[in-house]
Amino acid sequence: MHNSPVGRDRLESLRDALVVTGERERLDVIAPVSGAPFTSIPAGTEADVEVAVERAEAAQASWAGRPLTERAAVLERYADRVLDAQDELLDVAQLETGKTRRDAFEEVLDVVQTATHYADAGPELLESERRSGAIPGLTKTTVHRRPKGVAGFISPWNYPVTLSVSDALPALLAGNAVVLKPAQETTHTALLARQLLVDAGLPPAAFQVVSGTGERVGAELVDRVDYVCFTGSTEAGRSVAKRAGRALIDCSLELGGKNPLLVLDDANPRKAARGAIRACFPNAGQLCISTERLYIHESVYEAFRDAFVTEARALDLGTGFAYGPDVGSLQSAAQLDKTERHVADAIEKGADVLVGGRPRPDVGPYFYEPTVLTDVTHEMTLFDEETFGPVVSLYPVGSVDDAVERANDSRYGLNASVWTGDHDRGERVAERIDCGTVNVNEAYAAAWASVDAPMGGMGDSGIGRRHGEEGLLKYTEAQTVAVQRGLQIGPGPLPDGVWARLMTGFSKLLKRLPGWLR
Ligand code: NAD
Repeated sequence: MHNSPVGRDRLESLRDALVVTGERERLDVIAPVSGAPFTSIPAGTEADVEVAVERAEAAQASWAGRPLTERAAVLERYADRVLDAQDELLDVAQLETGKTRRDAFEEVLDVVQTATHYADAGPELLESERRSGAIPGLTKTTVHRRPKGVAGFISPWNYPVTLSVSDALPALLAGNAVVLKPAQETTHTALLARQLLVDAGLPPAAFQVVSGTGERVGAELVDRVDYVCFTGSTEAGRSVAKRAGRALIDCSLELGGKNPLLVLDDANPRKAARGAIRACFPNAGQLCISTERLYIHESVYEAFRDAFVTEARALDLGTGFAYGPDVGSLQSAAQLDKTERHVADAIEKGADVLVGGRPRPDVGPYFYEPTVLTDVTHEMTLFDEETFGPVVSLYPVGSVDDAVERANDSRYGLNASVWTGDHDRGERVAERIDCGTVNVNEAYAAAWASVDAPMGGMGDSGIGRRHGEEGLLKYTEAQTVAVQRGLQIGPGPLPDGVWARLMTGFSKLLKRLPGWLR
């Protein structure tokens, strides 16, 4: 297991929490840094999903019946628990993903921040709220936020702590039970992150986990739950959306991206280059909000390019469970294969490789060098297709308009980054970019970590938002209760014509009243 600090017994004990209803085939789990299987998980079935959802349903009412303050306290304790137990969480996440410890630590920060935010801000957002009634003074109208019931989560392997648990926290706070189908590659990380939530006081039955493939177990989950939060590829997202449509349930889809970064003419090219390195190569480029396209004003192009290439060349590739290396492994042979195919296709069609452009089997079987390309054109696959690896393209641009137009020339719209010497100008440019989040003088973390604000994609990057009010209320059904006192709404004993005249006068009067009196 490549000197893994995580023992086989521990992995086995984590798997005890999986819902498995009988004898199952096994699916190998590969350690990316060795390319060898180190353990296996049961290949879940439709029957497992059925039982998991039934158990979650049975647990939901009593969890929702607990006072909101008590549910919020579980999230608060979870943040502490994750901080205290972070070493093991980082070990398991690194083992299953091959990422660096620094990349794994970003996940720890994310769950802690999300848990703390919703524990703090969530209860007020979920409180029942008085609204203006049909007839002022006579209609008392209240909106209640009821949990959907059982919320299903389907998550990818690239950020297995964050994407398996962070999104589930607001759903739990709102009183839902959860059934999670993590990526088969990173099931143990998800199980450990969920175990820490149970340690923090969540009733175990309120958070069920099923293992297995997306096509079988993921698809079945969509058919059985009351809401689905999917994170993954656009292709799988479309299939989830179709099924959710058939089941007539609401869904949020957090999908792929081909994220642009703009360097304006007033940017400091060296500072922008350092920032761009962080934007392009976190988690070896396997981050949905990392950058793959860079549009640089021609007046700073050469200085930026030279600084960026120097920084990219200096990045240190490595394995190991300690902090140190800058860039870790790709997660699988499939990821390496896609990265190699994209680069080979670009080179064949005339792209120039400024740095990188080759695998590094001497470091590990799936390692690939941070790669910077120029002269990338429409015919090349990676021009507009997400590589999801450490490969980026530089394009000189003549003006801000040109940069914005090219940044927006994409079916995706997830995240963008703008580098400038003038924050106000940066904000104005940001507002013209068709992406759900835009960072000015930051790579991705400023917008992502603003957990009080919505985060999500436009176009093929998805539907719905995580974080903020939207990221909590999506797990609720709004219910309006209106109590009518005195006068009934309708003609009553009056002839219809008299009633219509009375209501016409009343409507005119109502329009003249100030908003707060209506
Ligand atoms: P993927 O779509 O192959 O798998 C994601 C999850 O969906 C896995 O658990 C998988 O088993 C399941 N799945 C696959 N097909 C399914 C189906 N037909 N029905 C139900 N479930 C199904 O994606 P991946 O390769 O694991 O992840 C990489 C992709 O995820 C990239 O495109 C990346 O940009 C995207 N991503 C997006 C975000 C975001 O927040 N927008 C975050 C991380 C990753």
